[in-house]
Amino acid sequence: MDIQNIKQRNRRDNRLCIVIPCYNEQSVLPITSGQFLAQLNRMIAAGKIREDSYILFVDDGSRDDTWKIIRELAQQDTHFRGIRQSRNRGHQNAVLAGLMEVKDSADLSITIDCDGQDDIGAMDAMVDAYLNGCDVVYGVRSSRQTDTFFKRTTAQLFYRLLSFMGADVVYNHADYRLLSARVMQSLAQYREVNLYLRGLIPLIGFSCTSVPYERHERVAGKSHYPLKKMLALALDGITSLSTKPIRMITGMGFVMLLMSIVGILWAVATRLYGYTIDGWSSTMCVILLIGGIQLVSLGVIGEYVGKIYLETKDRPRYIISDRTCEHQQTEKQK
Ligand code: UDP
Ligand code: MG
Repeated sequence: MDIQNIKQRNRRDNRLCIVIPCYNEQSVLPITSGQFLAQLNRMIAAGKIREDSYILFVDDGSRDDTWKIIRELAQQDTHFRGIRQSRNRGHQNAVLAGLMEVKDSADLSITIDCDGQDDIGAMDAMVDAYLNGCDVVYGVRSSRQTDTFFKRTTAQLFYRLLSFMGADVVYNHADYRLLSARVMQSLAQYREVNLYLRGLIPLIGFSCTSVPYERHERVAGKSHYPLKKMLALALDGITSLSTKPIRMITGMGFVMLLMSIVGILWAVATRLYGYTIDGWSSTMCVILLIGGIQLVSLGVIGEYVGKIYLETKDRPRYIISDRTCEHQQTEKQK
């Protein structure tokens, strides 16, 4: 824990908002919404957070009854609220939309998936760390026992690769985290369209710590992150956090250049000494190898050019189409 500048916060002064992205989760929400509410009420009763703390569901353009369920929940209990994105934009944008919605009215937020995989009980330790002065609290998985061997190994490889690329990410941390209001407000200043929150939050700074938790199986439904989407997220993570791949290509280019100079000298020398033979296969090998390397290099550079293209457009990162409580955005109760 970074203990510099840490100052204890007053209990009972803190309005918490739990931000929960949901996409096609009609089978999950009826089960987990009660668990979230119970946890919120427990923390209110323990005097850790204010009575007007609440849970904000962000419907990420679901096509099933998710929004209907959220609206019903909001009618049943004032601790439930919801916003809805105009269309599906993906988990990262849904989390961002929720954080931007609450940044001015909440003192702290906790983001968590709605499928019950992340241990809801870990919020106690997270809020305690906040009360002790931390601004960012990362929920970190204590083990990956519930994962398949494949997911475990690929995840580990990904973290290794990211740290090799010089990106500062917290090992085994997904998007279960607590942020103070000032971190959310700082996050609002990062205008990038290619979002990778796990990599952005450490860049913001402030005092941080982590809380270990057990990750369970989904309570119902199935994951929205198949291998293809996981790979896309990994690629986004690397290219939005690091330009090292481009530098590696430059390095590779220099090595290839040196090798080809040696090759040219060798070819000229053998020609001069009259040893030339029909070198079809060796020529083909060299052409294929260099062609392949060039294509990969172009692809990597293209990946960055594409990102620049999207960033220069500066399109909105989320669009909210509905709210369960219309005055929510303007209110500021402190
Ligand atoms: N989610 C979302 N938009 C999407 C896909 C997923 O808001 O396009 C939400 C989903 O409802 C869940 C969280 O993001 O609360 C994590 O998704 P999921 O559980 O499918 O991923 P996994 O835990 O398998 O990585
Ligand atoms: Mg999940």
